[in-house]
Amino acid sequence: MTVQGEGPSAGQRCAFVRLGGCNLSCRWCDTPYTWDWTGVGDSGVAYDPRRELHPLPWREVFGRLLAYRVPMVVVSGGEPLSQQSRLVPLVRALAGTGHRIEIETNGTIAPRPELVGAVRFNVSPKLAHSGDPQARRLVPGALAALAAAPGTAFKFVCRTAADLDEVASIVERHGIGPVWIMPEGRVPQELDRNLRALADEVVARGWNLTTRLHIAAWGNRRGI
Ligand code: SF4
Repeated sequence: MTVQGEGPSAGQRCAFVRLGGCNLSCRWCDTPYTWDWTGVGDSGVAYDPRRELHPLPWREVFGRLLAYRVPMVVVSGGEPLSQQSRLVPLVRALAGTGHRIEIETNGTIAPRPELVGAVRFNVSPKLAHSGDPQARRLVPGALAALAAAPGTAFKFVCRTAADLDEVASIVERHGIGPVWIMPEGRVPQELDRNLRALADEVVARGWNLTTRLHIAAWGNRRGI
């Protein structure tokens, strides 16, 4: 049990489901233990999937989530939509018990119809500084499908004001929004520095600003 740390629902109590596997390999990824089995990320650490991944039937995940007694569940990763067909029964069950559900996604995979309207998608398209090739990180059909889903928010990880020009170009080209800008930062000092560098320009451009509450409150700890 924790709080949603980022985006439109920041600060709200929730439980997290973190899924393994990702179709991108962002060099600054803060959850490399979900996908980086060869050490290609900034840390250079090759994580062991036998230690990191724990397959569970969705009914067991559902039961564990109910025990937290929180109003919201956030599904994150990795890239959750890589295994979205297996998410459908869990989302249906959670919606049936009155939970709000958010799915964090990198925006490269179109959502299944069963998920549209049942969840909020927090879409985080990646900029060039992720190191992922543009053709892999920006998929027009997937962005359009996610933009059309009710409640979707687009959240961009930025370091400098120059990154905001790249965001503006993506937003204009793909016709997506609303936009949230989130400073990159895996430790509080880095997060604070980047937040200060971005804040004025984000407001001036008419976008929303979010921090990363879990980093500010607890630092770079797993399991938060
Ligand atoms: S898309 Fe997300 S989980 Fe995947 S590598 Fe990039 S930051 Fe990490």
